[in-house]
Amino acid sequence: MVKVFIIGGGSGGVAVLHRLIKFNWIQIIGVADLDAEAPALKLARDADLPVFLEDPLFILQNLVVDLVFDLSGNPEVGKKLLDLAGDDFDVATGEVTKALWKIIVELENKEKRIKNELGKHQVLLEIGLMLSRSETPDQIFEAIVSGVIRISKMPAASLSVYNKEKQQLFLVATKGFSSEFYQNAIYSVRPGGLTEHILSNKMPILVPDIADYPAFNNPTIMKEGIQSLIAIPLIGDKGPVGILYCDDFEARSFPDRLSDHLQMLSTQAVIAIQKQQTFERIKELSIRDPLTSLYNRRYFNKIMVSEIDRASRLNRPLSVMLIDIDHFKQVNDNYGHPVGDQVLEGLAHCFESIVRPYDVLARFGGEEFIILMPETGETEAAASAERLRLAARESALLPEDASLSCSIGVCTFKKAKGAELTAKQFLHYADEALYRAKREGRDRVCFYRLT
Ligand code: GH3
Ligand code: MG
Ligand code: MG
Repeated sequence: MVKVFIIGGGSGGVAVLHRLIKFNWIQIIGVADLDAEAPALKLARDADLPVFLEDPLFILQNLVVDLVFDLSGNPEVGKKLLDLAGDDFDVATGEVTKALWKIIVELENKEKRIKNELGKHQVLLEIGLMLSRSETPDQIFEAIVSGVIRISKMPAASLSVYNKEKQQLFLVATKGFSSEFYQNAIYSVRPGGLTEHILSNKMPILVPDIADYPAFNNPTIMKEGIQSLIAIPLIGDKGPVGILYCDDFEARSFPDRLSDHLQMLSTQAVIAIQKQQTFERIKELSIRDPLTSLYNRRYFNKIMVSEIDRASRLNRPLSVMLIDIDHFKQVNDNYGHPVGDQVLEGLAHCFESIVRPYDVLARFGGEEFIILMPETGETEAAASAERLRLAARESALLPEDASLSCSIGVCTFKKAKGAELTAKQFLHYADEALYRAKREGRDRVCFYRLT
């Protein structure tokens, strides 16, 4: 703590006091002036600092002080002060005060700059928080786009996520564009093209004026009237994750540190996107059967409950079909368990290629499959079941041309025909029908009819 005493309550005193008050490493131990109404004394009183109306030279003899500002404007006071000071304190008079003044102003400017920097980091911090709180992919994508608009202070932005297998970018969030922008929702990444160039770049590409960068003169950009942009490649540890664009409809220049700040944001965006993708993958795995990649029983049961509810409410038909491979134990016994697995996989793909997109096909158990068929009455369900039965026979999945067959139990529900139905009952009825198909000789389709 530097102990400071100010002599002179005029405008010089006010200016010095005003600035010094802000530094917490400075302790102002007094402000002195013979005039009780001097403005610096008022300021000192307001700030609860000691004020002195007596001769400052007399006061200083009884105080411990490090630095005295002489702003009295009186050369006599200055002279006497230097005599008094000796090794006890320093005196800032005339030129020294001016020099100090400059340092203070510089310090203040630096502080402003740091505050500004901190402000930007504050934005990054806020964006980080927003990202970590986002739960759905859409929330995350929107948080990234809003974040980049805040940092870049540009009026529009978009985020595209990269799909490596398809070599495509999917536009997942935009802000500040026309609604038509969304219609170009998928971009292919052409070898040697602009997008590939951006993705292979590790740093943001700043384009102050598109007129100077013909590569960016593409129809989408032109149509939206974009004049300047920043393309930020989002690169994870395993390669590109996406591209974040911020755009302006006028040519512009960019502040010095913007690129660094965008780089920091992009790191956060990459982490958020990767986290989300991993989460989605885990979610997907939890509803799939690992051998056949079909939906598993747990997921099927969930869907069945909601589909029964829907069919009941809207009075629409709903069919369920339980398929069990005939004498599958013999397949394992004759050809070994790995061949048995291959047959299960092969049959799963065979069924997958036959069912309609809105049918829900799942592996129900060991060698049992199940299909839920919304909007499907018994006649249609019977035809589908027959197609599947024949497909299994013709699948040629067993070695030595050995025959493979399935038994199928079908049940169709329509509210008008009966009372409430639970998922458990629905399954039980299909199982009853399947059991009959087995009993009646296998390789056939049987029905359980609700009365
Ligand atoms: P049925 O015609 O009466 O249905 O006779 P089945 O032999 O098919 O029926 P059973 O229930 O007696 O045997 C089912 C067999 O399916 C026994 C079991 O080892 C086999 N299995 C179940 N899950 C798998 C699997 O994931 N891989 C293989 N390879 N076999 C499996
Ligand atoms: Mg079985
Ligand atoms: Mg079986």
